[in-house]
Amino acid sequence: MITIKSAREIETMAAAGKVLADTLAFLAGRVAPGVSTADLDEAAEEFIRSHEGARPSFKGLYDFPASLCTSINEEIVHGIPSRQRVLDDGDIISIDCGVYLEGLHADSAVTLPVGDVSPDTQRLLDVTQSALDAAIKEAVVGNHVGDIGHAVQNVAEAAGYSVVRELVGHGIGSSFHEEPQIPNYGKPKRGPRLQTGMTLAIEPMINIGGREIRTLDDKWTVVTNDGSLSAHFEHTVLITASGPRTLTVAPVHAPA
Ligand code: MG
Ligand code: MG
Repeated sequence: MITIKSAREIETMAAAGKVLADTLAFLAGRVAPGVSTADLDEAAEEFIRSHEGARPSFKGLYDFPASLCTSINEEIVHGIPSRQRVLDDGDIISIDCGVYLEGLHADSAVTLPVGDVSPDTQRLLDVTQSALDAAIKEAVVGNHVGDIGHAVQNVAEAAGYSVVRELVGHGIGSSFHEEPQIPNYGKPKRGPRLQTGMTLAIEPMINIGGREIRTLDDKWTVVTNDGSLSAHFEHTVLITASGPRTLTVAPVHAPA
């Protein structure tokens, strides 16, 4: 069932989304060569819990052990933070995080460069961010889920990259994963119709090489089968009568 959120639920999700946006911005300032993914995870959990009533969505979700998924280079999603995993100059790291507040979740991810990355690597990040932006523009009343996936696929494939098929975006609300599933590929005007009050986690996962994936022996970390780099960006987006509203952003402040 696809849920339509009430005004109260929407404002709570926006509040969770603001904590989440602030968390990712805080982490972006800590990503550097020599930092371990466990360092980032601990900092994230403390930061989230410093906001009254907020807690990390991921910890314990399907028995996941941490507050962040940290996925480096050829890792696509669901990497487990570890003291042994230390960032190197030239890596990219996808940080995926959820915040739970007053019964509702928000979900967002960014992929960040560590130190100096090659132009080819930076291009993957830029294209994947553009794919998310294009997808959010399609999150309007009267469009269908297929319009969102089609937008991602167009941007990714025009750049010569491939789209992960097995992992998808999703509805989100009082449950972290709700219907509908939101593939990052598809045809316009296919799939469920978008309506005011739906909240969707839109999350392109784009590989420089082939689209095939596999899961490591830890049963969580999903990697590209060919070892090529992968990027992941995600926002939680509300469908409104006047267009998409991204909930996982911090309000813009005028410069002091
Ligand atoms: Mg996520
Ligand atoms: Mg998600």
